[in-house]
Amino acid sequence: MNRKSKGKISYTLQAINIIPLLFLGIFILVLGSHFFTEAMHAEVKQELRSVASNVIAMFDIACPGDYELLGETSYRLHKGGIDITNDYRIIDRVKEDTGLDVTLFYQDTRILTTIQNASGARIIGTGAPEIVLKDVLTGGEPHFYDNAMINGSTYFSYYIPLCNEDGSIVGILFVGKPRKEVDKAVQRSLYPLILAILVTLIIMSVCISRYTNSVVSVLLKIKNFLFAVSAGDLGAELSEDVLVRNDELGDIGHSILTMQRSLRNMVEQDALTALYNRRSADRKLHQIIQKSAERGTPFSLAIGDIDYFKKINDTYGHDCGDIVLKQVAALLKEHMRKEGFAARWGGEEFLLVFDHSDKEAARHSLESLLDSIRSLKIPYDGQTIRLTMTIGLAGGSETDFNVLIRKADDRLYEGKSQGRNRIIA
Ligand code: GH3
Ligand code: MG
Ligand code: MG
Repeated sequence: MNRKSKGKISYTLQAINIIPLLFLGIFILVLGSHFFTEAMHAEVKQELRSVASNVIAMFDIACPGDYELLGETSYRLHKGGIDITNDYRIIDRVKEDTGLDVTLFYQDTRILTTIQNASGARIIGTGAPEIVLKDVLTGGEPHFYDNAMINGSTYFSYYIPLCNEDGSIVGILFVGKPRKEVDKAVQRSLYPLILAILVTLIIMSVCISRYTNSVVSVLLKIKNFLFAVSAGDLGAELSEDVLVRNDELGDIGHSILTMQRSLRNMVEQDALTALYNRRSADRKLHQIIQKSAERGTPFSLAIGDIDYFKKINDTYGHDCGDIVLKQVAALLKEHMRKEGFAARWGGEEFLLVFDHSDKEAARHSLESLLDSIRSLKIPYDGQTIRLTMTIGLAGGSETDFNVLIRKADDRLYEGKSQGRNRIIA
């Protein structure tokens, strides 16, 4: 049962904390990756756009004028009257500076390109993808493509129409980056984000787990304490870990300690006089006898009985008898505070235990107690009640509980028969 309940609350608390955290982590990761990738793509697009306009400007500056295709059998591309058919200087420099591939199409045919096939030859003379021709050459608008297939690889690409001075579209300029490279760059930039989320998740999980465990361990201590008390162990101790807490669990700890104290009082104390009752006196006496035997220290016990108590009841009533019992009990308790303890042994009989005095010292103490009882004046209903007590004292080398009690009892009755108001030792 112990293990079952421990698992239940611990796992439930951890689950309700960590599972939402995991979901939150996954959510942030997915959303973060998405927006991050979008941002990276936007940046690449911006770069492609600006490099494309630069390339066009570079050709215009190097060879001002229109593009035109000359020749009848072998075509040559001229710009501003200069043959640029095999002049790769501009596009190669751009490739070197930016890492981006550049292609210049005249109509739909690659005239200049930085893209090479597997054997290292530039893929000139090949055509542009159908969709590009439709969107850019015919449509006349620049266009981005995330997955343009060129020479067997997918490219993140930007195509822009090439125009002559009269505005007529004569070709296309392509600037692009292999998709693999873009994805790799995105992934590389995402790693720190993923790592940060993972580390945060781990730290939060550890913190939650530690806090949960500390709460659960306090709950277990409270539970174990309650189990012990409900099993009758009224002396069970509640761990300081619970009591020092400055929260509701600490409050619970203090409350159940108060409850334990009340229970112990109810079980151990006599309701009328608040002295130990016979049952707990019995237990305490056994402990003292055992301790004295172990340590070789002396102890003594006495039984005191109020003289003619019945008369007080008969004369003033039972309530008055109760008041007298309470007053005598208070006096005995105070007197025995440093000596040992006092208990209510029967109706008007009290057990007095001296846990570190031999018979002689106990007798000395009892003489002074008897004097205090003799001088006690209890006012009741306009009258003053006075009383005496007879005491039987036992001690010395005897360590048998029953023998000791019998001896004290015998001496008490001996005192009664000798005229009361005395100590017999
Ligand atoms: P002795 O000197 O021989 O001891 O005489 P006694 O009258 O004190 O003794 P006895 O045994 O004849 O009477 C004891 C009385 O104490 C009888 C009983 O009613 C009374 N008594 C016992 N318990 C209580 C109590 O709780 N309250 C009151 N008021 N009286 C009690
Ligand atoms: Mg009596
Ligand atoms: Mg009696």
